[in-house]
Amino acid sequence: MKGLMQDWPLLVHTFIDHASIHHGDREIVTRKVEGDIHRTNYSEIHSRSRKFSKALIKLGVKKSDVIGTLAWNTHRHLESWYGITGVGAIYHTLNPRLFLEQLEYIINHAENKFIISDISFVKILEGLEEKIPNVKGIIFLTDKENMPETSLKNVFCYEEMVDAEDDNFSWIKVGEGDACGLCYTSGTTGNPKGVLYSHKSNVLHTLVANNADAMGIKSTDSVMPVVPMFHANAWGLSFTAPMSGCKIVMPGMNMDGESIYQLLTEEKVTFTAAVPTVWLMLLQYLEANNLQLPYLERVAIGGSAVPRVMLEKFERDYEVSVMHAWGMTEMSPLGTIGAFKHGMEGLSFEDKVNIKLKQGRASYMVEMKITDDENNEIPWNGKDFGNLKVRGPFISSQYMKGDGGEILDEDGFFDTGDVATIDEMGFMQITDRSKDVIKSGGEWISSIELENVAVGHPDIAEAAVIGVLHPKWDERPLLICVANEGKSPSTQDVLDFLDGKLAKWWMPDDVVFVDEIPHTATGKIQKLTLRDQFKDYVLPSLK
Ligand code: ADP
Repeated sequence: MKGLMQDWPLLVHTFIDHASIHHGDREIVTRKVEGDIHRTNYSEIHSRSRKFSKALIKLGVKKSDVIGTLAWNTHRHLESWYGITGVGAIYHTLNPRLFLEQLEYIINHAENKFIISDISFVKILEGLEEKIPNVKGIIFLTDKENMPETSLKNVFCYEEMVDAEDDNFSWIKVGEGDACGLCYTSGTTGNPKGVLYSHKSNVLHTLVANNADAMGIKSTDSVMPVVPMFHANAWGLSFTAPMSGCKIVMPGMNMDGESIYQLLTEEKVTFTAAVPTVWLMLLQYLEANNLQLPYLERVAIGGSAVPRVMLEKFERDYEVSVMHAWGMTEMSPLGTIGAFKHGMEGLSFEDKVNIKLKQGRASYMVEMKITDDENNEIPWNGKDFGNLKVRGPFISSQYMKGDGGEILDEDGFFDTGDVATIDEMGFMQITDRSKDVIKSGGEWISSIELENVAVGHPDIAEAAVIGVLHPKWDERPLLICVANEGKSPSTQDVLDFLDGKLAKWWMPDDVVFVDEIPHTATGKIQKLTLRDQFKDYVLPSLK
């Protein structure tokens, strides 16, 4: 017997419809790419995104067309997503931090019809124009006065397009299983691969990501997505925020400590989210200027492991609750979040920190398992680690155009490429990326854990650990550090600091200092480049 409930398709534009009806005057604040602060609300965003849909139709955009967006987090970028999905087309986020060749590959592979861009990326697009022949035009997210001088052909001004339309428009009818968003993985091995989200998967992800034990955003919150919309959908915040009706604060292109601090304070932000590198800059700025965070209540941190010092500083020095999250582009992206369970309330600060340092427990609709290389399940005892695999309705079943072939195991689980433990309480902890783990004498050393202990040294700003070849042990850890400004700790200082905090055989064989550690386009430590940089390095014990 069939249930007798209404067939109400799960479509992403219902988020902005809902926000405009119930929270129409709630503010959306943007630090524009042009520099000034702009204020609008859900009602205007709703109206302007429908105008933009009409303008797109005039340009010939049709259902299932892929429209690239090369843009920072701003109200215009947000509107453009709703405008694109409103005509049944697919927003495709382009990460401006990628190399030109990667952007070229992605734009061509996804067959972008138009690209919507901030004016700050005009040079990138000029460099690409000849190589992306299928792109019919570039829409600059700006007004007439700020349109860039450019050699690009077929450029359009977003504000002029929007101004030329009225908002008498109904979203084009699509099915909940239709594609609505596209994001390529950063492709540390091989070419980037396209992750194609459906309306339904984005809606389900939004509902799950906003449960009380996850982001838990309320209409009374002021939310700043610092994580860019081009990094795994801004972790879903472009949908979660309108669904809840909270105020949104869009930071634009400036993510330095001072700019972020200003918005956090002036816009009374209560919830924010970004990768650890952003918070490193903020914490340095706060300390150097002796500042506090009077309004901020919660910070979601993910993309890389949260270092202990960062967690302790936020929680103890600034009274901000850290939500450590793990996920990936292929998971829409949220997989786990470190919310406490019943019985953990009375734990000491130290014990709570230890729990929060884990990546957390699975959300509803995310099934997890850890396996050995023969796909046998490994017990959840917090000690034994294995390949982390996931299954659920907002997790990829395959990549765009079938790249990479079959990506699910026989039970329908996707291999995340992460190595992890899961404890008796269901809290997962990432040991490493499977390709970054250091294999020493048949045992594994977690580069992440070593890095986290190393950045606890008061004179170290950032640390990266890679395996270097060793004739007896296969690989041994090399610790690469960036010292805090004006500090120059010695190798021995650092080794003395680590002594006792790690198993003896985990101790790095050497410590080297560099001016800068390379980062990927999503702010992670670029291990591939570091391995390349240190490929001829010989450990002191072998000289
Ligand atoms: P990109 O490499 O483009 O940033 P993703 O955001 O999809 O792509 O990266 C996902 C990977 O990032 C995960 O598989 C995991 O290795 C790492 N990661 C994400 N969150 C965390 C976390 N909290 N701790 C450790 N690693 C994390």
